[in-house]
Amino acid sequence: MNRLLLLMTTTSYRAGAFLEAAERLGLPVVVGSDRPQVLSAAKPGGSLTVDLLVPQQASRTIAEFAKQYPIGAVVAADDDGAILAAMASAALQLRHNPVDAVSAARNKHRMREILARSGIPSPGFERFSIDEDLGTAARRVSLPCVLKPLFLSASRGVIRADDTVQFVAAFRRIVALLRRPEVAAQGGPLAQQILVETFIPGAEVALEGLLSGGNLRVLALFDKPDPLDGPFFEETIYVTPSRLPHPVQEAIAECTAKVAAALGLTDGPVHAELRVNDQGPWMLEIAPRSIGGLCSRALRFGAGVSLEELILRHAVGLETESFERERQASGVMMIPIPQAGTLQEVLGKEEVESVPWIEEIRLTIPVGQEVVPLPEGARYLGFIFARAETPERVESALREAHRRLKFIITPARVPWRPKPARRDFRVAGPRVSD
Ligand code: ADP
Repeated sequence: MNRLLLLMTTTSYRAGAFLEAAERLGLPVVVGSDRPQVLSAAKPGGSLTVDLLVPQQASRTIAEFAKQYPIGAVVAADDDGAILAAMASAALQLRHNPVDAVSAARNKHRMREILARSGIPSPGFERFSIDEDLGTAARRVSLPCVLKPLFLSASRGVIRADDTVQFVAAFRRIVALLRRPEVAAQGGPLAQQILVETFIPGAEVALEGLLSGGNLRVLALFDKPDPLDGPFFEETIYVTPSRLPHPVQEAIAECTAKVAAALGLTDGPVHAELRVNDQGPWMLEIAPRSIGGLCSRALRFGAGVSLEELILRHAVGLETESFERERQASGVMMIPIPQAGTLQEVLGKEEVESVPWIEEIRLTIPVGQEVVPLPEGARYLGFIFARAETPERVESALREAHRRLKFIITPARVPWRPKPARRDFRVAGPRVSD
């Protein structure tokens, strides 16, 4: 059997679930990663070092490798390898999304342009250079707005602004983030720009789907019961099935299928975030990958099949018996970082495990490590999982579990603060507040 090339960074949360799924399916795996694998010498053809940030070159490396070790599918475990997976698949003539479609979905501004051209309801948007004159920028945007980097994920660097002073502070804060060497390297030219969108009010959902030959199959729709009104947008609770009325759920699925088609996405997983209000669904973002972090543990299909197994089956062309999610309601809470500092201790873990309907808690940041909240941070303290008869029970179990946990964090000695917005900053026209 030809190998499955699994692209992932060495720090990916998603590695374990994909490797387990491959093992269950008996697929021989090559791990394509940014650093040499420790045991690579012991298993020739079992791993490949590729720079996910230089996909053209990495794709040539993969094509060369495949001459000796034939590859039957290339799958990216998360965002970082998505473009390379498309490029390498094209080079090896394997079924995959077109490279242009993946690149467009990985660039928030390009995505907005394509959706606007296709007549899909979208927020107003404008792109600015990070060197933009802020007086000019502030005059051009309509408020309230959301400022965001073009290429980051997990709400990193996404900030709402309700007035021009907040706009300027948010802009500067994002510029400081984009100038960090590791962020600048990740974004390349995209790290030179900031996207500003009008703020779309409404309830937010996340749709997990699988595209096959351009057809979208909805695998799960998650409600996000905590309001996400900013100024930062930390994810917390996801619960499925959705409690939204069926016609609304159908409209969400229809909107996602239209967006995927407009971008040209055809095959593989999609993770979409939408808002719904009285004007219908609004696509915030669609990513050609599966749900991030450890969240996929909340999903089980058919006779206990994982999301990763569905994705791998599709990638290698294996039949899937059932795409039906289990009957029980299920949910996950991503535990946000409440303050910057060093994580000293986590109290209450045992008490959490005794909360009815709670299945598991996984802490993902070891004690002793530095923790950074949004909008600069990129990690969660951990994940809590619950399953019950109803979504209401799942939600309240997750809230109760979180209430019982206590994270002892000693503040960073010199806390990072954004540069205060200049109070002498002038713009024409009235200010909403100052
Ligand atoms: P990321 O890829 O980092 O998750 P998104 O563009 O999806 O970035 O934004 C993250 C979150 O910020 C969204 O899930 C949503 O809660 C909020 N958000 C982003 N854009 C808007 C918008 N135009 N209106 C309202 N909320 C938004």
